[in-house]
Amino acid sequence: MIHNLLIMKFGGTSMGSADRMRVAAQICADAARTRPVAVVVSAMSKVTDLLLSTLRAAEEGDRDGVKENIRIIEKRHIDTCRELLPVPKQESVLAAIRTLIEEFERLSSGILMLAERPPRSVDEALSIGERLSATLIAAHLDATGTPALAINAREVIVTDSIFGNANPLMDLTAERAAKILQPKLLAGVIPVVTGFNGATADGRPTTLGRGGSDFSASILASALNASELWIWTDVDGIMSADPRLVPDAAVLDVVTYREAAELAYNGAKVLHPRTIAPLVDKGIPVWSKNSFNLAAPGTKIAAIAEGNGPRAVTSMSNVALISIEPASPAINGTMLMGRVLEALGRANAEVLAFTSSSYQQSFCFLIRKDEVDISLASLKAELSLELAHEYVHPIQVDDNVGLLAVVGEGMAGHPGLAGRVFTAISADNVNIIAIAQGSSELTISIVVRRDGLERAVKAVHAECKMGVKGGPLPPSNL
Ligand code: ADP
Ligand code: ASP
Ligand code: MG
Repeated sequence: MIHNLLIMKFGGTSMGSADRMRVAAQICADAARTRPVAVVVSAMSKVTDLLLSTLRAAEEGDRDGVKENIRIIEKRHIDTCRELLPVPKQESVLAAIRTLIEEFERLSSGILMLAERPPRSVDEALSIGERLSATLIAAHLDATGTPALAINAREVIVTDSIFGNANPLMDLTAERAAKILQPKLLAGVIPVVTGFNGATADGRPTTLGRGGSDFSASILASALNASELWIWTDVDGIMSADPRLVPDAAVLDVVTYREAAELAYNGAKVLHPRTIAPLVDKGIPVWSKNSFNLAAPGTKIAAIAEGNGPRAVTSMSNVALISIEPASPAINGTMLMGRVLEALGRANAEVLAFTSSSYQQSFCFLIRKDEVDISLASLKAELSLELAHEYVHPIQVDDNVGLLAVVGEGMAGHPGLAGRVFTAISADNVNIIAIAQGSSELTISIVVRRDGLERAVKAVHAECKMGVKGGPLPPSNL
């Protein structure tokens, strides 16, 4: 085990240009003077989106679109390389960039030919963004006197085969990390590992879901028993709301693991939803920090005994509400729920909120919009008999909705809070469609009409005084 290991992850904006890579590398070099450091990087900002839209263009047979996008991606990395590295160091890196771009070209051609996007090829192609950025920053670190080596996470992070949203196999990953990363760390070399990607045990490339580099970093922190994980992004830390929606959102000094996990799960983009889980057992603390404002202390995420009520409000607009209602009293509602949940599980869809009414035995649940088609197919297959014989009403899908979540430990100690939140939302003429509260009383989830979502977020943020520096007021003052 490497003593006092620090893992640092740099997001897309922190890697977005030669200047930003210089700052990121300086942060790594400074830290590496006093302790061992391993780095995880995202692709340069917007590159993953561009790779993905290129693959979509390929699927649609848009040869010119594919060519033009590849030209843009190649130029961005070549320009960055020329700006970042001294001339004698450029040649080998430019060659590496061209090889990666050729690899992407090959995968795009395959998709053009097939007119479809096999998930495995998509994952292989998308990881090229991170491979390009890791190559660049590792070369810059090395050229400026901090030994570093770019490593494809495909060699280290072992996952299941759910392409596009793979899950890590932690024991195998720990073995690989010990074999591949530890010797580098012991030799004083910074491994610069690609975020976002991995591979199955038999070597098929996978990705961990959009925004997954945070998750890559926490997987490696756990696999290597790191002392700390620092996640560098473009805001001062975890805030009481998305600052793009709520301008007076405040930075939270500390949040508990559970709060951070709920925030991320319910749409706070600052952390990938699955980042926290690998860290909890080992108690590895995380800092969310701003690479654009090094003076800001950031937010600490750890197992702290906080419990001050509502801390933050999050929202998700890319969701849909599915309702299921038995049409006959002969149907056992509880059995029906069980079967529906199993069908969703088989479709790999995640239920974000679930509510039921006991008398009519009807129930509804919220899932991500991009999981609707596959979920409906699975539900229709499972309930084919009931639907054909009209024992169950046709399945209703409402995608004109949004999810808002109020998150904070100790909300149970704030009697009347839910009522105040609902009143604040209604006062702004936003319709509440469904409400769910987890048994942990850590999160209140509220489904509202889509066009009222942003107003509802602002109303809840103001009502709970979340913008007040240092967090919400104690219960007696609320
Ligand atoms: P990175 O590329 O560094 O991973 P992301 O864009 O994925 O960065 O996440 C950072 C962004 O998350 C911020 O710019 C901010 O707009 C958004 N965000 C949403 N909710 C929150 C929140 N509660 N606290 C902080 N940032 C948030
Ligand atoms: N580059 C990937 C994405 O844009 C992963 C990440 O940035 O975390 O989704
Ligand atoms: Mg991110």
